[in-house]
Amino acid sequence: QYDFRGKVALVTGGASGIGAACVHTFARGGAKVAIVDRNQDLGAQTVAAVREAGGDAIFLPVDVAQSGAVEAMVTDTITAFGQLDIAVNNAGIGGESNPTGTYSIEGWQTVIDVNLNGVFYCMRYEIPAMLAQGGGVIVNMASILGTVGFASSPAYVAAKHAVVGLTKAAALDYGRQGLRINSVGPGFIKTPLLDGGLDDQTQTYLSGLHAVGRMGESAEVAALVAFLCSAEASFLTGGYYLVDGGYTAQ
Ligand code: NAD
Repeated sequence: QYDFRGKVALVTGGASGIGAACVHTFARGGAKVAIVDRNQDLGAQTVAAVREAGGDAIFLPVDVAQSGAVEAMVTDTITAFGQLDIAVNNAGIGGESNPTGTYSIEGWQTVIDVNLNGVFYCMRYEIPAMLAQGGGVIVNMASILGTVGFASSPAYVAAKHAVVGLTKAAALDYGRQGLRINSVGPGFIKTPLLDGGLDDQTQTYLSGLHAVGRMGESAEVAALVAFLCSAEASFLTGGYYLVDGGYTAQ
């Protein structure tokens, strides 16, 4: 457990899965947390869970694919908590499962809007706020599919590869001004994003792709995110860190 007392953390997609695990990890460490999500019911539930555990959180209903709403997300966080120290740009969707030659144009646009443009919009407004206060830490949620491909997921694979590159570019822009910016590459993690749509056969298949023979847990990703956002990770920026149970080792 890292010490986040006195820090303000923002987590997009914070109402479910990996994002919610990050929210709880920051809150347990003493941070005040802005939970950003487009799912209002889940957002309210997550805020309630943090407060029940003795933490401090607010919910901001935001679609990260809307740049104006993302700008307001940063302003609202600072209005509520006075600062922004940590941002985890995690909101994402899986999109349709089709090979490139039949992938729908609308489906492509939607995945790029959320999984890539959403990350850019977030950094576009988080960075000036962090620079104004002299520093900050950003983690962008990529995937193992930010470095290897996966059949019938062209938009997702392209967006996640782009997030890894965007993270490197931003880290180079601001490394001398007190900002650290990294990306994280989880293997297949048991969250509503996947779990809902997986039959037993697919779960077994996906489990077998990892050296450890199983899918990951959200808390195992949150543990890496927390380290990257902690004071202990002071020399880490521009990196892409895998938490994949050995998926990419073969
Ligand atoms: P999840 O579906 O459990 O949670 C995602 C959350 O993001 C949901 O609460 C959803 O409402 C929110 N969200 C989606 N689109 C949004 C938007 N436009 N604006 C605001 N909120 C939005 O999914 P998860 O598995 O926890 O995924 C979180 C991130 O981790 C995603 O970026 C995903 O691509 C990435 N990831 C997941 C896995 C996995 O196996 N589950 C693996 C690698 C990377």
